[in-house]
Amino acid sequence: AKREGRAVYQFANAAMNAAALERLQLESGLRRAIETNALRLEYQPLVELASGRIVGAEALCRWDHPKRGPVPPAVFIPVAEDSGLIEALGGWVLRTATRQLRAWHDAGHAELMMAVNLSARQFQRGIVLQQVEDALVEADIPAEKLELELTESVLLHDGEAVMAVLRRLKALGVKLSMDDFGTGYSSLAYLRRFKFDKIKIDQSFVRDMIDDPDNAAIVRGIISLALSLGLDVLAEGVEDETVATRLRHWQCTFAQGYHFARPMRPEAFIERLRGG
Ligand code: C2E
Ligand code: CA
Ligand code: CA
Ligand code: CA
Repeated sequence: AKREGRAVYQFANAAMNAAALERLQLESGLRRAIETNALRLEYQPLVELASGRIVGAEALCRWDHPKRGPVPPAVFIPVAEDSGLIEALGGWVLRTATRQLRAWHDAGHAELMMAVNLSARQFQRGIVLQQVEDALVEADIPAEKLELELTESVLLHDGEAVMAVLRRLKALGVKLSMDDFGTGYSSLAYLRRFKFDKIKIDQSFVRDMIDDPDNAAIVRGIISLALSLGLDVLAEGVEDETVATRLRHWQCTFAQGYHFARPMRPEAFIERLRGG
C-alpha cells in the first residue's frame, strides 16, 4: 500500500509538473509573441437590429502559435492576467484597435465605434487610464467612439480603486459596456454605480432562448430593464434568424453573432463594409 501511495503521489506530482510546465511555456511564448508583434486582432461586427446596419466592431485578440497553431483567448488571456503580461497586451490591443478605427473613419465610415475588452488586472495599477488616453490621442479618435467592455469580475476586485479609474475614463468620454450580463451575482448593483452605457446579454441565455422558456424570459427581462434604464442593449451569440427576429420584436437595440458575421480580419471587415 505504501508503494502504491508513493506511485499515486508521483503520478499526481508529474501531472502537476506537466501543467505547470505547460503554463510556463505558454507564458514565455506569449511574452515573445507580444515582443515580436505576433498577436493580431479580429473584428466582429456589431449590428443595429432594426436596420441591419454595422455600427461598430468588437476587437478580439488572436494568437497563432508557431508550433501549436491558434491558441484561443480563453486559454491565453488568463495566462496573460496571471503573469502580469496583460498590461502590455492590453495596451497593444487598445493602440491597434483605435488605429484600425482611424483607418475605417478615414475610409468614409466615421460613424463606426470600436469595443475593446479590459481585464481586472489592467485596473490594478490604474495603468489602463493612461493607455486609453494615449491610444485615443495617437489615433485621433473621438472618445465616444471607444467602448470599454468590462465583466463584473473587474468591479469585484477593488471597488474603490476601480471606481476612481472608471470615473476618470467616463470623464474622458469613453463608453462603458457590461459584458456577459446575467452571469455574475451583483451585475444589477454595479450597473448604476458605475454608470454603464450598454449591457451585453451573455450568449449562454441568447443561444437557446428559442427552446428554453426560462432563457427567453431572462433575455426579454434584461432588454426591458436596459430600455427602462435608458441603456443600450446588445444580445451576444445570435446564431440564426429566428433568434434575431424575436430580439427585434422585443426592441433589442443591437446584436452580435455568427448569424451576422464571425470575427474577421481587417481586410474582410472593410470588404463587408463596402457591401461585399
Ligand atoms: P467575449 O468578450 O464574451 O467575446 C465574445 C466571444 O464570443 C468571442 O470569442 C467571439 O468569437 C464569440 N462569439 C461571437 N459570436 C458568437 C456566436 O454567434 N456563437 C458563438 N458560439 N460564439 C460567438 P473569442 O474571440 O474566443 O474570445 C473569448 C473571450 O476572450 C472573450 O469573450 C473575452 O473575454 C476574451 N478576450 C478576447 N480578446 C480579448 C482582449 O483583447 N482582451 C481581453 N481582456 N480579453 C479578451
Ligand atoms: Ca466582450
Ligand atoms: Ca461577452
Ligand atoms: Ca466572456
